[in-house]
Amino acid sequence: MLITAALTEAAGAPFVLREVELDAPRPGEVLVRLVSAGICHSDLIVRDRWFPVPLPIVLGHEGAGVVEEVGGDSAEVRVGDHVVLSFDSCGACARCRRGAPAYCADFVARNFSGVRGDGSTPMRSGSAAVHGFFFGQSSFATHALAPVRSVTPMPRDLPLELLGPLGCGVQTGAGSVLNSLACEPGSGIAVFGAGSVGCSAVMAAVIAGCDPIVAIGRNRARLRLAEELGATHTVELGRAEPVGRVRELTGGRGIDYTLEATGVPEILRMAVDALHSSGVCGVVGGAAPGTEVALEMSGLMFGRQVRGIVEGDSIPQLFLPVLADLHVRGRLPFDRMVSLYPFAEINQAARDSQRGGCLKPVLHFKGF
Ligand SMILES: [Zn+2]
Ligand SMILES: [Zn+2]
Repeated sequence: MLITAALTEAAGAPFVLREVELDAPRPGEVLVRLVSAGICHSDLIVRDRWFPVPLPIVLGHEGAGVVEEVGGDSAEVRVGDHVVLSFDSCGACARCRRGAPAYCADFVARNFSGVRGDGSTPMRSGSAAVHGFFFGQSSFATHALAPVRSVTPMPRDLPLELLGPLGCGVQTGAGSVLNSLACEPGSGIAVFGAGSVGCSAVMAAVIAGCDPIVAIGRNRARLRLAEELGATHTVELGRAEPVGRVRELTGGRGIDYTLEATGVPEILRMAVDALHSSGVCGVVGGAAPGTEVALEMSGLMFGRQVRGIVEGDSIPQLFLPVLADLHVRGRLPFDRMVSLYPFAEINQAARDSQRGGCLKPVLHFKGF
């Protein structure tokens, strides 16, 4: 079928809307009509070639929409289901079987190669191949082909135009606190970076019962929002020294948990230095391959941990409905981060997000 997709054709170039031909779903795939798609920082750093993906490709990995066709038999997904799309995994490797699909042995091939296992692309422009399956979806398009394992059915009474960010940014921030760090009630957390992942972590820290919850960032408006979402303290980078401030707030001993959501080595160093001697730092900020960080070795000796986290250690089919339920109960007001843009304004939305003008741009497909 003919669809409209936002193509990434060259490194750093703006997205270009084009009509492309999309395959019918094969067994194990689902055709989804997108209602909304969030723009995540990872879309922009992949567009800018921090991570190599084959071009041209359709990016986008926070899609929400309605299932229009199911390839083959599927017990999990039916035509008409309202769904949120997330990352793909194989379901068969040891890590998938242990309930850790974000660390699937086949994660890179399934989410970044742009092709199926047999090398075929899901889209074409004229006779030229167009790559897809980015994070199991490629949702900067009116329609997406998604592997069944990247699809999570959601209750029908929820607003699909808002739900997309659950599939990456919100699940990454909230999952880091609730699943990966598993912060105990009364534990302290400092979140470095007050973007959509950081603010999601702050909301989750409130749910977990953390105290204090310190949000650290450069953008004053975002820090104000973090405060409204439940941060007990904020630190503006450049105006105050975060490590000293966190130590001050914790009687000089350092904090139980930190989350690094900026991808900046100097900030990761701060996030580790702010821990108490056996605290844990979760790392979710995307940095370019080859980026190095200096840490004080003796500081790690006494039990401090630094651990990378992918997609909040989430099993999307289990965790996304939990997040949606928390939202309905008013405990995860992620809609406060969202600014809606028409699909045709994707480049404006990307610019606004990079300049700090909006926290979580979400494209909607009305009129397409
Ligand atoms: Zn796997
Ligand atoms: Zn993402």
